[in-house]
Amino acid sequence: MITGSCLCGNIQYELRGDPINTAMCFCNNCRKSTGSVGMANSWYSKESLSITKGADLLRTYEDHAVDSGATVERSFCPGCGSPLIAENKIKFPGAVIVTYGTMELEEGQKWKPNLEYFCKRKAEWLGTPAETEKFHEL
Ligand SMILES: [Zn+2]
Ligand SMILES: [Zn+2]
Repeated sequence: MITGSCLCGNIQYELRGDPINTAMCFCNNCRKSTGSVGMANSWYSKESLSITKGADLLRTYEDHAVDSGATVERSFCPGCGSPLIAENKIKFPGAVIVTYGTMELEEGQKWKPNLEYFCKRKAEWLGTPAETEKFHEL
């Protein structure tokens, strides 16, 4: 099991079972949403995720302006701004995308991506794990 929370801790969650995928996305929207070089995340089946604290606090921004044209529902903590969860119901129905940065990995719980999306937007100075499957877009 993996536990996680937003920065202020008012929203907490648990993840059970193995992720469907672990991914980096460098699209403009993931960069804006995180304020960083891209979004690192794990995809889980919806049943794997339990919001254990502050579920009623979670706010969702419906992101229509993704490079790919997909709609991504991006949920975040309105208190501290941490992006926690995203859903792309058209491309990945039944899956929930959980941000890596909000996970509290314990010793022995390692995270590394197996997929990279929107490599065309990736900063050229960023290193690349050799074993990831890479996509130009989504
Ligand atoms: Zn928070
Ligand atoms: Zn993205």
